Amino acid sequence: MDLRLNGKTVVVTGGSSGIGLAAARLFLEEGANVAFCARGAERLEAAKIGLVADFGEERILAEAVSVLDEAAFGGFAERVLARFGGVDALINNAGQGRVSTFASTTDEAWREELELKYFSQIYPVRAFRAALEASGQGAIVAVNSLLAFQPEAHMVCTSSARAGVQSLLKSLSVELAPAIRVNSILIGLVDSNQWQRRFENRDDQSQSREAWFADLASKKNIPLGRLGQAEEAARALVFLASPAASYITGAYLEISGGVSRFV
Ligand code: NDP
Repeated sequence: MDLRLNGKTVVVTGGSSGIGLAAARLFLEEGANVAFCARGAERLEAAKIGLVADFGEERILAEAVSVLDEAAFGGFAERVLARFGGVDALINNAGQGRVSTFASTTDEAWREELELKYFSQIYPVRAFRAALEASGQGAIVAVNSLLAFQPEAHMVCTSSARAGVQSLLKSLSVELAPAIRVNSILIGLVDSNQWQRRFENRDDQSQSREAWFADLASKKNIPLGRLGQAEEAARALVFLASPAASYITGAYLEISGGVSRFV
């Protein structure tokens, strides 16, 4: 199937590791130009070096920018448009989860979490809306979590914010139609930097990586018996961002190994 991404331009937020980096690589494989950002300059540079080694410099732009800094992100958007002449797809992927219960979540933590989840959508959509409208195949795909529909008490504010974001995306899919399609993927547990950090802080430091992840998959009752790989989530992003998904908007796709319990 031709995904018709060759020569197109895709922006990936949070592209320096995990799902975002895997997506950047797949879009490059499809022949697209890829612009990506993340906050940490060192990891971003390492990601860029790896991609440039495989795909050359011409189709890649990477900048150390936070999606929560509207002015800096606006500057990034200007440079993306100046370099590639337009944008055809936006992948809103930047972010992280917060582990806390209602009792342990301070007001400040609530505000931080709501700001991260909402404005990591709002600022990039605002910055690239006009370019996506002009594309003729404009698409936004957000990386959200199963927590939006299946909240967990130990991630109370992340779950709540995720549900709100899902509502925002649905509204956007109407307001931005027909020029821009808006979809999301709902992640269950994908092996990325987030889980690597939790593995490194494990209680039993003698437990191997393989055993710790197998144990986690078993405790979480994942029907496919393992965590997902970043590339497995990235493949869905590439599909939804491409004209192969031309009649899909306002939809979500679960990438969870079957762990959801809602129908
Ligand atoms: P990683 O930690 O591997 O990647 C997260 C990326 O986002 C990094 O590049 C990080 O770089 C970047 N990032 C974080 N905050 C910002 C910011 N404010 N501005 C710009 N970039 C930022 O994790 P994943 O690949 O797993 O995460 C991708 C998305 O998937 C996230 O939104 C996450 O919450 C979501 N998700 C993941 C799940 C999982 O099981 N892995 C489950 C549910 C949702 P830097 O820190 O340098 O900015």
